[in-house]
Amino acid sequence: MTLSTRLLSAALVLTLTACATPTTTSKGETYRRVKAALDAVPAIDTHDHLFPFEKLPGSVETAQGRGMNLSSLWRRSYLTWYASITPWTPGGSFDEWWAKAKSDFDDVRASSFYRYQLPAFQDLYGVDFDRISDAEARALNDRIFENYKDPKWLHHVVTERANIELMFNDPYWARFSFKTSYPFEVLVFNVTTLVSGFHPSEFKSPDDDPYVFAKSENLAMGSLEDYLVVLERLFRKAKASGAACLKTTLAYQRTLRFENVPKDRAAKVFGRPRAELSADEIKDFEDYVMWRLVELSAKHEIPFQIHTGHARIQGSNPMLLVDLIEANPKTKFILFHGGYPWIGEMGAIVTRYRHVWIDSVWLPTISYTTAKRAYHEWLEVMPSDRIMWGADCNHAEGIYGATEFTRRCIAEVLAEKVEAGSLVEEHALRIGRQILRENALKLFPQLKDRLWKTKK
Ligand SMILES: [Zn+2]
Repeated sequence: MTLSTRLLSAALVLTLTACATPTTTSKGETYRRVKAALDAVPAIDTHDHLFPFEKLPGSVETAQGRGMNLSSLWRRSYLTWYASITPWTPGGSFDEWWAKAKSDFDDVRASSFYRYQLPAFQDLYGVDFDRISDAEARALNDRIFENYKDPKWLHHVVTERANIELMFNDPYWARFSFKTSYPFEVLVFNVTTLVSGFHPSEFKSPDDDPYVFAKSENLAMGSLEDYLVVLERLFRKAKASGAACLKTTLAYQRTLRFENVPKDRAAKVFGRPRAELSADEIKDFEDYVMWRLVELSAKHEIPFQIHTGHARIQGSNPMLLVDLIEANPKTKFILFHGGYPWIGEMGAIVTRYRHVWIDSVWLPTISYTTAKRAYHEWLEVMPSDRIMWGADCNHAEGIYGATEFTRRCIAEVLAEKVEAGSLVEEHALRIGRQILRENALKLFPQLKDRLWKTKK
């Protein structure tokens, strides 16, 4: 054996060792120190969709009864956006499901929508999902089912393993019931459907219907003027119930370009069903109401979370919101998802307007590499108190995975800046703490009364 072949085989041994131990990373000491410091930060997660425990989506009928299992975790994950995961047959067996489902991951191994859940399997169950055997998968499935027999599992994973102190929850399943289910939960007032308040036929569920709400409050609903009174009452009730912010996901349905429509044009639309209206008339009404919601946001001092980017992409560029933002300097706008893929535009908007914040929620889950690029760029063009984060998931493992992904991503960016000599490590740690926690507490100061892990 020559020296060079000996070196080569030594390198090979090292490589093989690294492969066999999936937790080993090639990242250096700086990363490890920064990551450990960020892991210790009790996070404020500004966006999730955690249903009440008894209504968790994804639970299935098994031979052992109803519950959550491995199929639930994948079928209620973002991976279903571009990979179809074999459905669970009610009453079926795990082996029958897994025989088909295990190849569902073949084409998505490198995708972030697959990889963000992997830290949950590794850290919470000690399972390397990339290399999982059939026996390990069966045992994992049984342990998930067992864990979800008790809501303590959710509490344990969210507050201890993911180290989340408070979590904003967007209850899109019951927007106007203004109830919370978890002690760590912060109520969000989802206003998405209110722009369609021109006719009662727009609403299907009583917890989501401003006409039902008006009736319960003895308010009339005969004109646009009446509707504005109902909106005001909804805001008061939301605020009194503890809602910290507003949320809209209209970017999934329509353009984010909202014109400042005169009242008389919107008044002509009120009271008529969709079938009698033109697309322009519907947009007029929606635009008019959106402007009123933005004004009510300022009046009641409830910041406005707006979904931007990844959605109906022909109309979800955050730049489309700029006129609305500029005309409403008293409203605090929080633009979601880093505007993916328009992360540079997002940076430019926040650089220009002091009443806009970025929420990087979901961005590392969409694309880990884009998120890294985004944090790198944003920290160069704005003060470090403008960026927040959220997990945006609906079960414990998803929340853990998305949180771990975000902590890794931010730690990598900060460590890279430290190693490049463009940031002092002490300052890097402060920035990490700001993104994970302090920025949300600064924007929502009332939350300081809700802190239970640490006092500020
Ligand atoms: Zn969401």
